[in-house]
Amino acid sequence: MPIASKQGGRTVSGKYSEESDFMAARQLNRQINELESRNNQTIVSSRPLHLGLDISSACNARCIFCLAEKGRRAGSDKDAFCPPEWLDHYSGLLPFINLAIFSSYEALLNPDFPQFVDKLREYYTPFQIFTNGKALTPDLAEYCLQNGMQSVYCSFHSPDPKTYEGIMRGLRFDEVLSNLMHLKLLSRKINPDFSLTLVFCAMRRNIT
Ligand code: SF4
Repeated sequence: MPIASKQGGRTVSGKYSEESDFMAARQLNRQINELESRNNQTIVSSRPLHLGLDISSACNARCIFCLAEKGRRAGSDKDAFCPPEWLDHYSGLLPFINLAIFSSYEALLNPDFPQFVDKLREYYTPFQIFTNGKALTPDLAEYCLQNGMQSVYCSFHSPDPKTYEGIMRGLRFDEVLSNLMHLKLLSRKINPDFSLTLVFCAMRRNIT
């Protein structure tokens, strides 16, 4: 079922504002940041340009090389996911950052992920997702593209299905490839500037 889209934005002070106002705030912050960096200022007045959001400690894969095995939690663990209200702590930064980055484990497994997107949309904050692609269904991809998703980095550790499934245990090559193809097709219609990057860890079994 398609995910309902919410339009419109607001300022930190609560007044409704246009997307162009947020773009101007971002541009100004970037210029101040560049100036402060060039002058090696130790105390700065600009806000960060990027903000990483770790909202999940669960993953739906078991890659053979995963370095994050220790901190992983089961999806059924009540502490496995951050609630959307957690993002309110950063509401003072969201109008200014250039990119919010959902990283670490699988952010898309957070059952409240669309609400995180809604919260970012209030400030027209662009965002990026790191994922293994399994949970990035066409409905969710469409919703994200309509609400500020600028790019996706997808772990894809082999073009050969057997090798892929041997490395990324728990995932199905055809299912993930289909999700990524839908994502690319949807992005052409919704956001032609969107970029999809496939990343892989080189190891004997996928480069020889
Ligand atoms: S997708 Fe990432 S977090 Fe999940 S098992 Fe693979 S390497 Fe680990």
